[in-house]
Amino acid sequence: MPHDVPALPSLEALRATGAKQQPTYADPARVAAVYDDLRSRPPLVYAAECDELTDKLAAVARGEAFLLQGGDCAETFAGVTADNTRNKLRVLLQMAVVLTYAASVPVVKLGRLAGQYAKPRSSDTETRAGVTLPAYRGDAVNGFEFTETARAHDPARLQEVYRTSEATLRMVRAFIDGGYADLRKVHTWNTAFVADSVAGQRYEAMAHEIDRAMAFMEAIGADPDEFHKVDFHISHEALLLEYEHAMTRTDSRSGRPYDLSGHFLWIGERPRQLDGAHVELLSSVSNPIGVKLGPTTSADDALALAERLNPDNVPGRLTFVTRFGAKKIRDGLPDLVEKVHASGLQVAWVCDPMHGNTFEASSGYKTRAFEDVMDEVQGFFDVHHALGTWPGGIHVELTGDDVTECVGGGEELAEIDLGSRYESVCDPRLNRVQSLELAFLTAEMLRARSS
Ligand code: PEP
Ligand code: MN
Repeated sequence: MPHDVPALPSLEALRATGAKQQPTYADPARVAAVYDDLRSRPPLVYAAECDELTDKLAAVARGEAFLLQGGDCAETFAGVTADNTRNKLRVLLQMAVVLTYAASVPVVKLGRLAGQYAKPRSSDTETRAGVTLPAYRGDAVNGFEFTETARAHDPARLQEVYRTSEATLRMVRAFIDGGYADLRKVHTWNTAFVADSVAGQRYEAMAHEIDRAMAFMEAIGADPDEFHKVDFHISHEALLLEYEHAMTRTDSRSGRPYDLSGHFLWIGERPRQLDGAHVELLSSVSNPIGVKLGPTTSADDALALAERLNPDNVPGRLTFVTRFGAKKIRDGLPDLVEKVHASGLQVAWVCDPMHGNTFEASSGYKTRAFEDVMDEVQGFFDVHHALGTWPGGIHVELTGDDVTECVGGGEELAEIDLGSRYESVCDPRLNRVQSLELAFLTAEMLRARSS
């Protein structure tokens, strides 16, 4: 029997720990009213769906499946349109098909969406032309526009997070239940602008092979459910205590608390202190959870986090998302993986090849080089290969659109091109072609492991 989950701490107790990266609201009474309103609303996801995802992540931890987690760095309220959501879903489905087909490994699909609205920042303020205002902390907290009004922290935005997450999730469920994710649609996901690229052509060739395989299956009378529907779950960084606590509900089946704002929640690199509010909150909910681990993480930190967040060592409960940077991963990761593995801890290891590889282009844009991203993924595979452990997945910032935010890749996007379509309000994302390229290259690494 699993041990009793620690009781859900009160919001007051969490606040009293001096939680990191929280908004500073001017009016506590308004915050309380928003909190009460959110508590009265239906959950966005169901506890049973969270348990299903835990089971799938257990397969990842055992080395039997691969996790693909992706979406924007920061979603925006204005970005919640049918087109935008469909495009993100489409690129994730294409990537998943590439990984599944080219590497013959089941892929667990997890959107970084329908709740990814709050951002930790390294500085509380931003200065432009001598004017200093509060930093943008994601649409959940304040507006991106550089004005005093927009940058004020407004608790009513949490209600908008709920509404837009609900709308996004409704679209995702409709696309999936309505047959958009049917494997017989592999071709239609590849629209003209992708088909023009080398990765798009490669995808097209693979889609033909899949069609042939499916025609063969149909001819012999096999038509499994898996051809028609896809499993897809949602995730975000659990950053804002008011929102996550308000969305935490007791599951009627088990009597356990779940944070029903998303299926999978993670703690970021900045607020992951062992005695911090975020670790405390997520230790007491039963969702599958993740923790980001950067280059300063010691093996003892990782062991202590696993002990605290997954004391029963339940496979699938805990995912470590490492984000060392291409230059540090080969030296830094082995010690962590080795000691965690030697302790018999069941964790899924996932590579975030984005957050350790950000730099500022000479034009002032925050960017990442596709080659660094791939180098980190390769380093991640190399480390796991050397240790005999399973490289369980990738966590990427991407979009389904043709943006110009990361340099490099097959289209050889240059720093000078960044301005032409830079739309992220936070970190730079891989565009659709770069995302597809990443999927092909990662599939090759996966295949190389099993051959
Ligand atoms: C993020 O995922 O956008 C993020 C802030 O990452 P990290 O916590 O790893 O810095
Ligand atoms: Mn980011």
